[in-house]
Amino acid sequence: MTQTFLGMPAASPEEQPHTGGWRTNVEVPQDTLRWGHTFPEGAHKTLANTQMRRNLGHATRTIRNKRQLRVDEMPDWEDLREAAEAVKFEVASRLPELLEQFEANVTANGGIVHWARDAAEANRIVADIIKSKGVDDVVKVKSMATQETNLNEYLADEGITAHETDLAEMIVQLADDMPSHIVVPAIHRNRSEVRGIFLDRMGDAPEDLSDKPEELAGAARAHLRKKFLHAKVAVSGTNMGIAETGTVSIFESEGNGRMCLTLPDTLITLMGIEKLVPRYQDAEIFTQLLPRSATGERMNPYTSMWTGVTPGDGPQEFHLILMDNGRTKVLTDPIGRQALACIRCGSCMNICPVYQHTGGHAYGSVYPGPIGSILTPQLTQGLDDDDPVHTLPFASSLCGACAEVCPVKIDIPTILIHLRARSVDVKRRLVPDMWDVAMNVTAPVMSNGKAWLAATEGVKATRLIGKDGRIGALPFPASLWTRSRDLPIAPKESLRHWWKRTHPEGITPSRTATDAVDAAQPDVTEENR
Ligand code: SF4
Repeated sequence: MTQTFLGMPAASPEEQPHTGGWRTNVEVPQDTLRWGHTFPEGAHKTLANTQMRRNLGHATRTIRNKRQLRVDEMPDWEDLREAAEAVKFEVASRLPELLEQFEANVTANGGIVHWARDAAEANRIVADIIKSKGVDDVVKVKSMATQETNLNEYLADEGITAHETDLAEMIVQLADDMPSHIVVPAIHRNRSEVRGIFLDRMGDAPEDLSDKPEELAGAARAHLRKKFLHAKVAVSGTNMGIAETGTVSIFESEGNGRMCLTLPDTLITLMGIEKLVPRYQDAEIFTQLLPRSATGERMNPYTSMWTGVTPGDGPQEFHLILMDNGRTKVLTDPIGRQALACIRCGSCMNICPVYQHTGGHAYGSVYPGPIGSILTPQLTQGLDDDDPVHTLPFASSLCGACAEVCPVKIDIPTILIHLRARSVDVKRRLVPDMWDVAMNVTAPVMSNGKAWLAATEGVKATRLIGKDGRIGALPFPASLWTRSRDLPIAPKESLRHWWKRTHPEGITPSRTATDAVDAAQPDVTEENR
């Protein structure tokens, strides 16, 4: 059919109507570990996005509830966590030796091992291998390592298109968006936004596409099948490398990973050097912990494991790139190194009250949430005052919920405090800011029992100006707090008074402090407010 020009100017892509109001407000950064904004700047922007907060609240609640169900049915959950912690401790202690063993076994089984000091080197190696195969597009399995190196952008600059095949990752890619969660990258989107993205950006989406999940999945499946069937090269990350056998593995739920790992002739896998376990038997621990923690499933629908290449079966060329990108520097810190044990399950994000309100984009890194707050500043060594990532260790209420759910028992709150201290140490050399002045002014009061008691009595005056239990606005400098949050008014009775009144003889030996507080909790929260 010919088209008749009606004299109307063509709209630029920016001006074209978007379906479902999905337009992104995040630009793909040059450095995916460090997007350029501080956490408070990022949070200020994302907190204004009510739709995103609604999407996020619903999704994290659903995953949390599913995870709890699956964890509760495991009588040996705590034993598994301890076993995982021990394995990861062993890996950190023996990393050089295990990496050499891993390399030798991958090579002995026909794989080709490359070493990359940083993201730039890793990207260069991937691009060179793809170019050597004479192709200009590849299929990709969802991978945090390639997110960390910004591989897709690098390949695009080299004239190579990388097609994300994980559904959520594909949604993010089609929308020119950035992921906001390490397991569920499009967690900030709802169904109608996904429908809009497909209709606007996926050339072969059916015109009558609805926002029913099965229809959306069907459209994505049809779109991706064509990519799988003609791909000559696939790129993946990995969940785990096994030193003892040279085996590499991917756990996934959609089957797209299995297609990428088996159909193309060449497979390129990018792996952070910390993703090792020493023995094949160790896989047993993580295949139980990871799916329950990540998506609340008893096991992953697809667990693929491969060792080198097998003639006549699957890819005939396997390249494994072992990437450092700051990890060995993290390893030198005896407290911070625990962060390298992370198996990227995302549990800490789903439980974190800060993440649930601000969303992943606020963290300005591909690693958001509690793990991002400890991993990003260490990978980048960015604790200097003028580095935006130095604000991340402060993006936490230190409630400790993240450590309770972490399947490898990473003590995230302790690392946060450790990094805060390092950041403050760096700042000591600089001109004091308002925060330093405020801390110096309040330090004498906070370190003196009587002065502190008098101050807490004074805080009761807030009851006179609060409305409905909250104060909405205060003059400067307190407005720095109240412009983005309400301030609760002080309770009628302080904890100190309440404790004295309810425990005149102290705590009896048979009761712990937590039991005592729990038993008396209604008094404090309701009646005395
Ligand atoms: S820190 Fe723990 S809970 Fe958070 S993503 Fe890593 S393994 Fe999961």
